[in-house]
Amino acid sequence: MTSFGGFQPVFCTIVPPHVLDKLAQNEDPRLADPARRTLQRDASARTRRHLAAVAGAAALTPRAGAEAGKPHRTIYDARNGTDLPGTKVRGEGDEPGSDATVNRAYTGLGATFELFLSAYRRDSIDGSGLALDATVHYDREYNNAFWDGEQMVFGDGDGEIFLDFTRSIDVIGHELAHGVTQYTANLTYYGQSGALNESLSDVFGSLVKQYSLGQSAAEADWLIGAELLAPRVTGKALRSMKEPGTAYDDDVLGKDPQPATMDDYVHTSRDNGGVHINSGIPNHAFYRAATVLGGNAWERAGQVWYDVLTGGELEQDARFTDFAALTVKAARERYGDGEELDAVSKAWEHVGVRTA
Ligand SMILES: [Zn+2]
Repeated sequence: MTSFGGFQPVFCTIVPPHVLDKLAQNEDPRLADPARRTLQRDASARTRRHLAAVAGAAALTPRAGAEAGKPHRTIYDARNGTDLPGTKVRGEGDEPGSDATVNRAYTGLGATFELFLSAYRRDSIDGSGLALDATVHYDREYNNAFWDGEQMVFGDGDGEIFLDFTRSIDVIGHELAHGVTQYTANLTYYGQSGALNESLSDVFGSLVKQYSLGQSAAEADWLIGAELLAPRVTGKALRSMKEPGTAYDDDVLGKDPQPATMDDYVHTSRDNGGVHINSGIPNHAFYRAATVLGGNAWERAGQVWYDVLTGGELEQDARFTDFAALTVKAARERYGDGEELDAVSKAWEHVGVRTA
């Protein structure tokens, strides 16, 4: 994969291609057509992202003249078109308007900013107060949301299978966490390093939800995208960190393919080598560490994962064992030879990933 002066944009859509592929093959055009159009739209957005990066247009500028430690959000409305960013509809400090989608996007960006600042003293995605931009009402019946390396984009969903993509705050956190990874470990978006990239986004996405709701590890649902599935879908979310592989089992969507342990690791060339599939394994390790420790997951377990993500030792092409070993090291460095070290070590053992 090409790297652009250390800047490697990840184009992650929250609904992975294998889910949309399945939907696109449905006999019912009301289900297949939006999925097919979403796949085409994702492909062209990915190409545009790549070309922008090649042209050097991807350099993001921290906001100028704004106060450190405060978010700087701008929400745009694409009005069901595809021109980005669209028309500005809400700026930082503006009162909520009548569009609930705009308000949810604004709140979600703020909640993500708040978790990283309060829990980890990180000032925005890049650590230097990066402005947070988001576009809502992207395209028609667009079944996805993504971070394109510069901003968030949300579709409204087709209403049949997927609902408005601003509904899940962990999805907003997931996408922005890709930005944090982009600025730190910059994990290559393929195979195990790609699955770690995905998993870190699920971990911090879930932590955004837990922090904003004031939930302990025991109280959290550990689901990603629980609010996105339309009522007709047999499922509870896109992914489950608590029980990977059980998020949905639906006649239209198929079955959640995530493994929870290395015994069920999926070897595939699709989905960038299964980045949204095998992420179930490190996801479940985090869930185990956090729930065994108890209390707030963003505090000890989250701190250890954050230390590894930002500590400078995680290689771009890291494998699960590399990441696991670094979490053990980070737990020891921060908390000594105590229950944190024990919980982290046992969590990896549980999912079958060696830590040494
Ligand atoms: Zn992702």
